[in-house]
This record gives sequence, structure tokens and C-alpha cells, in this order.
Amino acid sequence: MAQAQQIPAQGQADPRCFKLISGHTIPSVGLGTWRSGPKASDAVFTAITEDWIHNRALLKKYLPGISGGTWPHSCYASWDRQTRPIHRIQDMIHWPFRLKEGAHKPPEAGEVLDFDMEGVWRQMEQLVKDGLVRDIGVCNFTLKKLDKLLRIAQTMPSVCQMEMHPGWRNDKMLEASKKNGIHVTAYSPLGSQDGGRDLIHDPTVTEVANKLNKTPGQVLVRWALQRGTSVIPKSTNAERIKENIQVFGWEIPEEDFRALNSIRDQRRVLDGEDILVNKIHGPYRCAADLWDNED
Ligand code: NDP
Repeated sequence: MAQAQQIPAQGQADPRCFKLISGHTIPSVGLGTWRSGPKASDAVFTAITEDWIHNRALLKKYLPGISGGTWPHSCYASWDRQTRPIHRIQDMIHWPFRLKEGAHKPPEAGEVLDFDMEGVWRQMEQLVKDGLVRDIGVCNFTLKKLDKLLRIAQTMPSVCQMEMHPGWRNDKMLEASKKNGIHVTAYSPLGSQDGGRDLIHDPTVTEVANKLNKTPGQVLVRWALQRGTSVIPKSTNAERIKENIQVFGWEIPEEDFRALNSIRDQRRVLDGEDILVNKIHGPYRCAADLWDNED
């Protein structure tokens, strides 16, 4: 199979996008819209005005017929200067699990069902064959699940979307993805929200930001780009949306990059426990089970 060109932020022909294994491109910086609520559409339009975006909110707004994709699948739309109007739609396995329709949170006994990875992937491959989507991808995978998928895939996943920030580098998934030519998109790059990890005020992050005369948010987004990942910071604040895209034309120097890579207490913020773990009835009795005990 062809290998994707994992083009690092430095030396990229166009640092605003990465090339995928499919030959298509994905914008380097997208706008997260999770928990943006009714402010999402304003945020999206601020981002569009800034001429950058790759996100699902666009799909919801412009392609309502498709946007109701069943969890754990998500549809993604990408839109950039070269591709208006939207025609770069990606479909991805959002979480590699299956819940009964209307499952409780956390799930009750019998609400976590078997996940047919091969069946799901075949359907997604068919979407590509039918010209309905251009790229398919995965999310919240482990090495074990990626290995299983790669053994059955006829069409390679273009993208693997994972939680990644200096507080959870998840180097093993980044390396495995790169090795297989799969581009990685880093989600929750600022440490997430509503009780997430406050990386904006992390001493190492603020020190690097002060040194470079950038904001902590910009340092965190730039760190993701320098790892060769695209990145989807969420904001509904127009100033912060604009701030988060000012990440080109400068670099985090190597020693500061190393300092960010040395932040201790590596742990996931979004471990899936609240949506998938049933401590008594299983089949996943703790978060480690969800991640195949790899962390
Ligand atoms: P982020 O890590 O992007 O952090 C968002 C928080 O940071 C918000 O509270 C936001 O507040 C604040 N913020 C944004 N920019 C700045 C800045 N420059 N300075 C200070 N604070 C800032 O959180 P998310 O967890 O939302 O992750 C981003 C996206 O990743 C999601 O929106 C979603 O699209 C995706 N995601 C995917 C998941 C998956 O399973 N596939 C799971 C989780 C997230 P404000 O809005 O007020 O600016």
C-alpha cells in the first residue's frame, strides 16, 4: 500500500495542510465544536472568515441529511480555500465500541454490544467506492485495535484521531500511525474543557509562551503541529479562535519542544469511562479495559 507523506510543519509545501495516504489533504488546524452548543455556528463562521477549518459543524449546518450519522460513527467535513464548496467529507469510527440504542450513561447491563469492526469497516470502504466520502478514518483506537484493522483493511484509514497534548502525548499511537502512513489529528489539544486538564496554566507551557511571546494556546497548537499532527482546538470565543490559528511562520525551539515533551503525569482526560464502563456487568469494568490495558 502507498505510504502517506507525513509532512512535518517545517518544510511543508503548504504548512496549512497535511497530505493523506489517499492523496487528499487535510487542513493542519481545524475548529473543535464539541460542547460549543448554540455558539457553534458563530464559531464556525468566525473560523471560515479566518479561512481555516475542518470540522463536523459545517456538515451539520450544510448537509443535514448526512449529519445524523449513528454513533460511534462521525462524519467530518473539511473545507479550505482550495475546496469550496464542501466536498471533502470524511467518515470515521468515532469510538470503536457499540452501545444499544438509548443506552444509559454509564451503560447498564447488556447495553454494551459486540462491535463488528470488520463489518463496519467494509461499509465505510463502500462509501469510498461509491464516491460518497473521500476519506475514512478511526478514532480512540489502541495499538491492538489498529493492528486488527490493518489486517482486514482493503482501504487504509487516512486519519486516526486521538486525544493528544503535552499532558497525554500518547507517543505509541502516534508512532504506530506514522509507521503505517496514517495521519493523526490531535483532539483536546488544550487539555479539553469542563473539568479537563488545565494546560493553559501549566508552568512549562506558560514559560515557553512567555519566552516566545506567544499565548499558551498558541504554544499548545504549535506543539501539535511540530509533532506532525493536525489539531482541532475548540473555542467559541472569536478572539481565541483567531489566536489559535496564528501558529504559522514561527517555531517552538528544540529545547522548549523537549521541555513540553517532558511534562509529567501523563494521563488521558477523556478515558471513556463515563460512557462505556459498567463496573459490575462489564464487558468493560474499568477504563483500562477500554484501552486494551496498553497505557
Ligand atoms: P480543547 O482542548 O480544544 O480545549 C477547549 C477549551 O479551551 C475551552 O474551554 C476553550 O474555551 C478553551 N480555549 C480555546 N482556545 C483557548 C486559548 N487560546 N486560550 C485559552 N483557552 C482557550 O477541548 P476539546 O475537548 O473540546 O477538544 C477539541 C475538539 O476535539 C472538540 O471540540 C472535538 O471536536 C474534538 N474531540 C474529539 C473527541 C473524540 O472522541 N473524537 C473527544 C473530545 C474532543 P472557549 O471556548 O471559551 O475559548
